[in-house]
Amino acid sequence: MRIGVLALQGDFIEHEHMLARLGIEAVEVRLPRELEGLDGLIMPGGESTTFGKLAVRFGLVEPLRAFAQSGRPVWGTCAGLIFLAKDVGRDQVTLGLMDVRVKRNAFGRQIDSFICDLQIVGLEDKPFPGVFIRAPIIESVGERVHTLCRLEDGTIVAARQDNLLATAFHPELTDDLRMHALFAQVCERSSPGRVAYET
Ligand code: GLN
Repeated sequence: MRIGVLALQGDFIEHEHMLARLGIEAVEVRLPRELEGLDGLIMPGGESTTFGKLAVRFGLVEPLRAFAQSGRPVWGTCAGLIFLAKDVGRDQVTLGLMDVRVKRNAFGRQIDSFICDLQIVGLEDKPFPGVFIRAPIIESVGERVHTLCRLEDGTIVAARQDNLLATAFHPELTDDLRMHALFAQVCERSSPGRVAYET
């Protein structure tokens, strides 16, 4: 199995390290052709307006949309979540795929970053360490979106819509491999090769 990591900017290397620890081949994606043959894609944290500008420059916007619309799993963390969203409350390039309204920098400035325990659907065995760095929140979700995690005050910080997964926090900056393992499982299940093999 091969999982791509969008490598335009941001903490893509940390995602690659997590995948390597799970024994999964990570492929850096900067150009449309690098999406070929991937079983899933992770879009890292970083700066979402920069993602937008670079994705336009590298001709990646439509190929990324097509990749996600083909049904292959795509996971956005923090800036990656913003890049997936339909509504970010301002004019910036996003893929516009996930039916969520996002508020950027919702907890304040870089210095207001924090770590807290999270209860995540599917990872009930123990709390997950949530690393929030100048993070967005999900202010509202559309009908097709399932909420996977809320802060104690009810704020939504993780959600799923069909093959799209979004987290406002950074599992790649922790030692906890469970989110990456979960995403890899979804990729494996939806891999065309595997479907063909099983039928
Ligand atoms: N504040 C960044 C943005 O709005 C996201 C921060 C992050 O990915 N850690 O794009």
